[in-house]
Amino acid sequence: MCVDEKFQTSKYLRIVPREGDVAVYHSLLGGLSLVDANITHLLNIFHTPQNALEAHTVVPYFSKEQVRSFIATFKSKGFLVYPGCNEYDVIQQKIDQTKESLHKGSQIGVIQLVVTNNCNFKCSYCFINQIYASEKRYASQVSPLNRHMSTEMARIAIENVIKVLKESGKSSLWIQFFGGEPLLNWKTIKFVLEHFEKGDKYGIEINYSIVTNGSLFNHEIATYFLKYNVPIVISFDSPRGNERFLLNGKNAFPVIKRSLTI
Ligand code: SF4
Repeated sequence: MCVDEKFQTSKYLRIVPREGDVAVYHSLLGGLSLVDANITHLLNIFHTPQNALEAHTVVPYFSKEQVRSFIATFKSKGFLVYPGCNEYDVIQQKIDQTKESLHKGSQIGVIQLVVTNNCNFKCSYCFINQIYASEKRYASQVSPLNRHMSTEMARIAIENVIKVLKESGKSSLWIQFFGGEPLLNWKTIKFVLEHFEKGDKYGIEINYSIVTNGSLFNHEIATYFLKYNVPIVISFDSPRGNERFLLNGKNAFPVIKRSLTI
């Protein structure tokens, strides 16, 4: 950063005092940060254009290096901008670049494979049938036709993603198995692991992970996950939680505990 460069606060910057700290964010870009009174003071200085040295004279409790570092961070979050810049155009450019890279696949690193919409739990807070914005999307979600992903559908979906990734010059992919409870569709997970393996025959490095309620492990599953080095994320709230039920209404904890001893 040039020491003479001047910055001012974005017109989209929002500063919200809270109990004990201050929340600052950009109303279009986000970037929520919780800061203390000294940093808030530094930000407020930029309501009139300042360079780093000018700002430092008002906040001597920060070193010049710290002031420069804060300015760089604020700039990257869009909190500070060059005086007179057309912020809306800059943001539109960023959106266009993001859209383009999404279409090209250069931002894809992980795909989440929802191998089933079914679950063997009935948690009181479950999101799975409640996050859809339209009735059409909800109907699709709960349709018996869409409860399980077939092996063929998984193969086609992953091959399509690999094609896009390779065209954009990427060489690795993470596949995360998700649900519902993904292990209810072990057939498709097993197929994906055996068919795609580490990705060698597709010329791409493939890694796997799974998010599971942890209740359905057995020796075969454990052996496969060990072989393919699959990190396991278990959604587990509390041993004393009273919101995580089996379909029969009983507390799910004993089942999870037994499954984890495999
Ligand atoms: S384990 Fe997950 S998917 Fe299953 S009911 Fe509970 S929150 Fe929903």
